[in-house]
Amino acid sequence: TQYVYRFGGGVSDGGQGDKNLLGGKGANLDGMAAIGLPVPPGFTISTPMCARYYDEGERFPEDVKAEVSAGIAHIEKVTGKTFGDAADPLLVSVRSGARVSMPGMMDTVLNLGLNDRTVEGLAAASGDARFAWDSYRRFIQMYADVVLELDHGAFEEALEIAKEDKGYTLDTELTSEDLQALVAEFKSLVEAEWGRPFPQDVHDQLWGAIGAVFGSWQSERAKVYRRLNDIPGDWGTAVNVQAMVFGNMGETSATGVAFTRDPAKGDRAYYGEFLINAQGEDVVAGIRTPQYLTKAAREAAGARPLSMEEAMPEVYGELARVFDLLERHYRDMQDIEFTVQQGKLWMLQTRSGKRTAKAALKIAVEMAAEGLISEEEAVARVDPAALDQLLHPTLDPQAQRDVLTKGLPASPGAASGIVVFDSDTAEKRAGTGEDVILVRVETSPEDIHGMHAAKGILTARGGMTSHAAVVARGMGRPCVSGAGTLAIDAKNGVMRVGAREVKAGEVITIDGASGEVMLGAVPTVQPELAGDFATLMVWADKVRRLKVRTNAETPLDCRTAREFGAEGIGLCRTEHMFFDAARITAVRQMILASDEAGRRAALDKLLPEQRADFTEIFEVMAGLPCTIRLLDPPLHEFLPHEEAEFAEVAAAAGLDVETLRRRAAELHEFNPMLGHRGCRLGVTYPEIYEMQARAIFEAACDVAAKSGEAPIPEIMIPLVATRRELELMKAVVDKAARAVFAEKGGEVAYLVGTMIELPRAALKAGEIAEVGEFFSFGTNDLTQTTLGVSRDDAGRFLTTYVEKGIFARDPFVSIDVEGVGELIRLAADRGRAARSGIKLGICGEHGGDPASIAFCEEVGLDYVSASPYRVPIARLAAAQAAL
Ligand code: ADP
Ligand code: MG
Ligand code: MG
Repeated sequence: TQYVYRFGGGVSDGGQGDKNLLGGKGANLDGMAAIGLPVPPGFTISTPMCARYYDEGERFPEDVKAEVSAGIAHIEKVTGKTFGDAADPLLVSVRSGARVSMPGMMDTVLNLGLNDRTVEGLAAASGDARFAWDSYRRFIQMYADVVLELDHGAFEEALEIAKEDKGYTLDTELTSEDLQALVAEFKSLVEAEWGRPFPQDVHDQLWGAIGAVFGSWQSERAKVYRRLNDIPGDWGTAVNVQAMVFGNMGETSATGVAFTRDPAKGDRAYYGEFLINAQGEDVVAGIRTPQYLTKAAREAAGARPLSMEEAMPEVYGELARVFDLLERHYRDMQDIEFTVQQGKLWMLQTRSGKRTAKAALKIAVEMAAEGLISEEEAVARVDPAALDQLLHPTLDPQAQRDVLTKGLPASPGAASGIVVFDSDTAEKRAGTGEDVILVRVETSPEDIHGMHAAKGILTARGGMTSHAAVVARGMGRPCVSGAGTLAIDAKNGVMRVGAREVKAGEVITIDGASGEVMLGAVPTVQPELAGDFATLMVWADKVRRLKVRTNAETPLDCRTAREFGAEGIGLCRTEHMFFDAARITAVRQMILASDEAGRRAALDKLLPEQRADFTEIFEVMAGLPCTIRLLDPPLHEFLPHEEAEFAEVAAAAGLDVETLRRRAAELHEFNPMLGHRGCRLGVTYPEIYEMQARAIFEAACDVAAKSGEAPIPEIMIPLVATRRELELMKAVVDKAARAVFAEKGGEVAYLVGTMIELPRAALKAGEIAEVGEFFSFGTNDLTQTTLGVSRDDAGRFLTTYVEKGIFARDPFVSIDVEGVGELIRLAADRGRAARSGIKLGICGEHGGDPASIAFCEEVGLDYVSASPYRVPIARLAAAQAAL
């Protein structure tokens, strides 16, 4: 097997670059080299080597060593320099690169190849001794930190002391001699802490760095990130070794990062930051404030330091051409890293840029309009889950704001929550259900779990491309970064802006769209659903096969859902309607009645109320199918739980307290989830379902008569296990229908069907379909009953189950395709065999989960149903499932 792939200098061994083999960074370096862009020559050690490295006991086999030597020879040939050469040494960077960009992996080591001899050569060849010694100083510091994992504080301290001794304030004031002395000190620090001298052999340096990249694949940080993002551990990482180019060789040199479009808003404008006379991570590290890329951006921000467009117009022009080329080549918005060495542009990285949901939507729609991608591709590009960000409220512009300070609008969306100063606390407090804003001076990969747990992130330092900003945008968390006036005193649990203090635990609001930080919780408003969102939805609907309905039981929910494009109701739960204060007394009288006559008397009082519920809903949903589930929960849920309430309830129901208490005790169940509920209520007290069916038909006939457009009631019997149960209940419903139609002198079309939520029902779906006219998979209960796991009690062990890989994901969030999914598949097949064209849908929480929707498409269900706010997500996910 080949492990080493060369690129640059007219070579691109990887062809068009295979991410699985070369990692994302390597594949795109190779890709850029292949289309003739200026990429410093280098080579990639492919991802399969990572697994082999671990198999061989974390050692490198001889064949790989030979390949790496050939890789170095390639760089030497293209650059005309020799690795370890005392006169004019080749320096390289060592960069990690998994298939997907992954915090937690080893940081890049720059300037590798410097030692006590080659530093002199670099000084002579560049004619700049200060530059050479500064490079060596940086290299030792980076190598000690990243590869040897020594405490970096000691090195920073030494640097500070060196400056203090001379009375300097800036690093740039250090002279060549100062730096030379610092190098000596750094070397002795390494020896003291590591127990061995700093490696002088450049090949030892190289293998040390390569080993550290592979080693970082199994670091705790990397493992946590993989777990949060469902990245398999066996993918491995690649290692990139590449000739150094220098952005710190004076005023005609620079380094920068850029996006080909605005990653926050999606506008078609180059967007980025750069620094003159700087190296590598100076831009992202937030040590110096970076300058704008374009004149327009600089002017819009009212900033003074010249933009790259103004300061280096020629290189900027070339860079702009490269941006357009890369967008056309990769057909997506790119996130780019570049360096200018003495007026010459070098490309160091490109990848599809992370973006906010708003930007994703805008970029997808505009690229389709530009003809760069098709409408289908635009549909495929937007992550349905990310739409969530857009469908949720933003800050009410009319609301009072007590603005504390302002930072950069790093990731849009608004969030309120309590101030927390460290990631562990953020995770803990969020775990108890609190909304948390994580406040840090700046974030690092160690903060991933805290950022994940937080509703929003606020930092005092760092630009739009700082760690906090990039990660927050990726996670869809609102973020304000670089709020410079914020003084954070995490130790004492307080932050200050001027004379104002905010303590840990106090509530603040951040607005990631404006950068404002406010005291207290600020009210929010509904989002705008026109424009790009509407356009993409039209395209999605063109390719979608699955219908999308909603789970709703109030007219308001129904209206919201219709605005979001719902095509009917997939689940209308009727029990919520009974909890209304005005009705609960009649419900309780019905429950407490000692005979059928008593129950009927109480149900007669409920009938007009229930009819009014359905009338309102049907008016909103006229012409659309509405699946209504008859009463499902155990009756004792409607009885009081508190001793104090008994007297009042007894009086209202006209009973003595003792009788009430006795009846409540009789209704007590050991396991209500599997108790007297669902159709078991209808079988024992048919008059309840009879009343509900009558209310539905009366309302449907009334709405049809009034509006001329009838809803299509689909009456759903819950918790059926056998054909006979459904037969009995269908007879009750049909009888009510005949009675109402005769009274009203008119008819509406309707269906009677069942939920499939018990394994027995799934198995006997063939028989059940002989009676039932539709199935709706009640995947919440079906998951509980198939796995024998109670959803309300699963919290104690489910996370561990997911961590240990027993379930890939929480089965109550995403369908357990292998188990529950098999029952669904089987029931669908048996149902269709018994009744061709039987209508099939799903009404559990899973109906709003993209992965579960893909499964529903595969099984060929007719519709999914989701809560109103998730309807657009379901429409998009259904479209993607069909592509
Ligand atoms: P990350 O994955 O954290 O972005 P990179 O491997 O891209 O890490 O390296 C970070 C930065 O180091 C780059 O943006 C670039 O500025 C600098 N860098 C990496 N390799 C080189 C190189 N060969 N020459 C000059 N600078 C480099
Ligand atoms: Mg990195
Ligand atoms: Mg990079």
